[in-house]
Amino acid sequence: LSIGIPKETAAGETRVAATPDSLRRLLGEGVEVVVEAGAGEAAGFRDADYEAAGARVADAAAVWSCPVVCKVRRPALAELEGAAEGVLVVGLLEPHRDEGLFERLAALRASAIAMERIPRITRAQGMDALSSQANIAGYRAVIEAAAALQRFFPMMMTAAGSARPARVVVLGAGVAGLQAIATARRLGAVVEAFDVRPEVAEQVQSLGASFIDIRLEEDAHGEGGYARELSADSQQRLRDALGERLLDADVVISTALVPGRRAPLLIEAKTVERMRRGAVIVDLAAASGGNCELTRADEIVRVGDVTILGPTNLPARLATDASQFYARNVANLMGLLLHREDGDASLVLDTGDAIVDAALVVHEGDIRHAPTS
Ligand code: NAD
Repeated sequence: LSIGIPKETAAGETRVAATPDSLRRLLGEGVEVVVEAGAGEAAGFRDADYEAAGARVADAAAVWSCPVVCKVRRPALAELEGAAEGVLVVGLLEPHRDEGLFERLAALRASAIAMERIPRITRAQGMDALSSQANIAGYRAVIEAAAALQRFFPMMMTAAGSARPARVVVLGAGVAGLQAIATARRLGAVVEAFDVRPEVAEQVQSLGASFIDIRLEEDAHGEGGYARELSADSQQRLRDALGERLLDADVVISTALVPGRRAPLLIEAKTVERMRRGAVIVDLAAASGGNCELTRADEIVRVGDVTILGPTNLPARLATDASQFYARNVANLMGLLLHREDGDASLVLDTGDAIVDAALVVHEGDIRHAPTS
């Protein structure tokens, strides 16, 4: 059985779905790995590194003729032209989006696993690419904010004068938010955070930040440990209460998301207009519509003296480690799917397994989890 690793084609994508390290795990399952020439270049992995680790480096046609193809991003329809009938495609497939991909996969009698749909159960932690990449995004968001802010993060006392520490507010304390808090604290900022799930207060405090206590009149818990969408009334009350807390912030990192919905709007234009001069907002929800009313995906917006960044792919700015983590998630998943008998590996897509059942969006041409938009 051979596994193909293509060079990513999405604009700005620098990550790769296998690294020389993750190859060792894959090869241990008894498979052959075919890596497209240059696939790891942007992430700092050379063709020679893959060859030394035991892979075969070849062209895109050879990679796409493999029965299993592991990618970072959703394949473009053109990429699938060279795909083998019955191929299994694994990647961050954005399974809510349609745009012809599912029908194309069905026509190929293909199977597809969306890494986003790996359930957050203990057994699947090693395959949880949403968490591994959100962690990186949270870290990098703080680095971007620190670079854009014309002030120190830490308190500084020098012969030339002293500076107070930056005040950072983190909205949404899930995986990305908690990493943003930890990173901003390590840089010496004073950090406050808010989440609609009050039980995260303890985690926020254990990272040395204070929790912004805004009482909601409704329960914000949805399914699977995620938040659900608040009523319009509660959302407005929340924006009003948060607005006051943002006025003396130097940096706001917003990470609030609700599965399957537009990101909650937490920062209104009128709040931005009243914010401190030089303040920086990094809106990690930009790809889902943004937590700030003025965010524009992948653009820098300046409103008066406030800068709003809406990066949609921060892990691609930390391509080496983001690839290492993602590739490990993929290799762990393959460990679940590959079975070895007499030295030969075979692929088993057992829909009786909760992980496969949740993440397998297309099975041998049958669309199991249809896109929602
Ligand atoms: P996410 O990316 O969907 O959302 C980010 C955060 O935004 C969440 O904490 C959410 O509560 C918050 N949020 C939503 N609406 C908000 C609003 N209006 N105002 C403020 N905050 C708002 O979430 P995530 O980071 O993927 O994690 C969600 C949950 O899953 C967390 O409890 C996390 O600990 C848990 N989790 C569990 C596992 C596991 O058990 N293996 C792995 C990863 C995450």
